[in-house]
Order: sequence, then C-alpha cells, then structure tokens
Amino acid sequence: MASIFTKIVQREIPAEFLYEDEQVFAIKDINPVATHHFLVIPKKEIATANDVSKEDSETIANMYAVATRLAKDHGFADSGYRLVMNCNEHGGQEVFHIHLHVIGGNQLGSMV
Ligand code: 5GP
Repeated sequence: MASIFTKIVQREIPAEFLYEDEQVFAIKDINPVATHHFLVIPKKEIATANDVSKEDSETIANMYAVATRLAKDHGFADSGYRLVMNCNEHGGQEVFHIHLHVIGGNQLGSMV
C-alpha cells in the first residue's frame, strides 16, 4: 500500500508543495513544531533510515541539498535550524517513508 507521502506526491491527498524534482519533493508539515517546519521526502519509498542503501546516496544527498536550499530561501539558514530523521519506535517515527524534517525560524530547545 502506498504511504501517505506517496499519496501526497501523486496528488491524491493535498499538501503545500515547496519543491519537486525527479527524485525528491518538499512539503510543509501539517503540524508544525516551529515557525518553519518542512519535510523533504524521496519519491522512492524507503521505509526507515535502516533501509537506506548505498544506491540511495544521490537521493539522500539531494534531500540535504533541498533542505538547505529551503532554509536559505525562507531566510532562516543563518539563524540556524535542525535537520532530523526519526527512525522506528524509539525515534518517534510515525510515517514509514523516510523524510527529513527541516525545523527552524525560532530558537529550538535542546534535544540531546
Ligand atoms: P515522523 O514522526 O514520522 O518523523 O514525522 C511524520 C511527520 O509527518 C509529522 O511531523 C506529521 O505532522 C507529518 N504529517 C503526517 N501526515 C501528514 C499529512 O497528511 N500532510 C502533511 N503535510 N504532513 C503530515
């Protein structure tokens, strides 16, 4: 069954798109935890960080490039931000299609 993010990129479920290319897309998180909260998602359905393989290197690099570009374009790259990928239960992962959270625009609490 397609993940919720695949349904979003197939325009079966609405979302606010920020970016899209052949490999990745970015949307606004529906439940933002900071002033800016974006999700950068590969079109390939990779379930968790544990399932990333070497053949995904270009896609993963592209995800980081898109994330930093979005932070710059939205004016919070210099003030700072957090890039997070949750993995499995203890990591708090809810959607099993990897995604990079881009969180910024205000001071974030310490996480570790
Ligand atoms: P996770 O906990 O898996 O790392 O993060 C999943 C994220 O996806 C959450 O921050 C949640 O708010 C977001 N999310 C879940 N469903 C939707 C949706 O239908 N649309 C959007 N834009 N974000 C979603």
